[in-house]
Amino acid sequence: MTRRVAMLSVHACPLAKLGGRDSGGMNVYVREVARNLGARGIEVDVFTRWREKDDPRLQALGPNGRVIHIASGPLGYWPKMAVYEHLDEFTEKLIEEVEREGRSYDIIHAHYWLSAKVARTLEKRWKIPVVQMFHTLGLVKREVLDEDIDGESDIRVDIEREAVRKSAAIVAASDIELDELRRLYRADPSCVAVIPCGVDPVVFHPVRQADAREKLGRDQCERLILFVGRIEQIKGIDVLLRALALLFFRRPDLRSEICLLVVGGALDPGDDSPETEKILELRRLVHEHRMEDNVAFVGSRDQEDLALYYAAADLCAVPSLTESFGLVALEAMACGTPVVGTRVGGLQTVIEDGRSGLLVPAGDYQALAEAMTQVLTDSRLRLHLAHGARERAEEFTWQRVGDRIVDLYDRILEGRAVGT
Ligand code: UDP
Repeated sequence: MTRRVAMLSVHACPLAKLGGRDSGGMNVYVREVARNLGARGIEVDVFTRWREKDDPRLQALGPNGRVIHIASGPLGYWPKMAVYEHLDEFTEKLIEEVEREGRSYDIIHAHYWLSAKVARTLEKRWKIPVVQMFHTLGLVKREVLDEDIDGESDIRVDIEREAVRKSAAIVAASDIELDELRRLYRADPSCVAVIPCGVDPVVFHPVRQADAREKLGRDQCERLILFVGRIEQIKGIDVLLRALALLFFRRPDLRSEICLLVVGGALDPGDDSPETEKILELRRLVHEHRMEDNVAFVGSRDQEDLALYYAAADLCAVPSLTESFGLVALEAMACGTPVVGTRVGGLQTVIEDGRSGLLVPAGDYQALAEAMTQVLTDSRLRLHLAHGARERAEEFTWQRVGDRIVDLYDRILEGRAVGT
């Protein structure tokens, strides 16, 4: 039986502010799983990079959970490859920390390729099994992006391949990710457990649209489209802006009524991060299509606020080029907001096209414009999808994720089969 877990999340602190340059779904996942396991009496230590000046060395994460910040390299945001350069230092300091406390673990649970590299050293030293979750895969990203924006592909893919070969089990967020692991990484399906993500119904639940709009100070009559997420190429926001421009071209009567809110991203003007550049690029696109009055970049919001944004919106657009799961879609659905998403990764397994949302091909701004127009102008369809979305979202809880993960740990430790 599993008692103690060393959870590795090198670049994604479970307590970080969300929606910034590189904090999103993975941070939420680690936070929710650690809390859920902790509530069952399993001790979980999450090891993550010390990034913010005010991060304490140790931070509680629910009952039996701790976040341990490991100082390696300078503080602040860095691109992934810069984090990679300091991984050996991270691993050494982590080992020192654990030895100083005299602690031992039953299992290592690693998130993303950066943590996979650390896990290789620890599994040898501690002689305990590793559960690996990638969240996104380098080779999948390479298939959808023309250029290697992060300059990380080869090293990343080698580390991912080794993790697939050596980990006791891989957690995939959907059957699609399982297929990708088989097709691109030759993963043995008997070592892969498909465990979909969850949503917290206490935070994300239906609220009357009028009340949510009042709280946010939004017009009661506007038609509101919402985007939520990190402001990155992979999220397809440019496709969404092109779709909106096409929608206005076809239906000029809707121009005065529709507003798109883009939630997420660092907005400090003095910040020369790639994300800010991305926002500037998107602003140029907005300007090109004369949509300044229709599009607002509102910056990051915490999840309690986000629940109001979902509830205020008529639809949530998730135009991602790839998505291992897509928590934003599930959160919107739990709030009873219809989602128009792309037929990629986990999104296509969560959203049932025509029942709990609409699916369009990735990158197809014409199809996206068509689907958004339908949802915004057909109130019967909107109600039908909202109802279906709520029902569907109830199937995905963190409690269920926790059940499956504990079962996976136990199977590994008892030498039973792990594949789904
Ligand atoms: N998020 C947030 N505030 C923001 C933007 C995003 O709290 O301003 C959260 C959002 O609620 C979701 C996560 O970030 O839980 C994004 O997860 P998703 O799986 O959609 O995308 P990822 O970041 O994994 O690519």
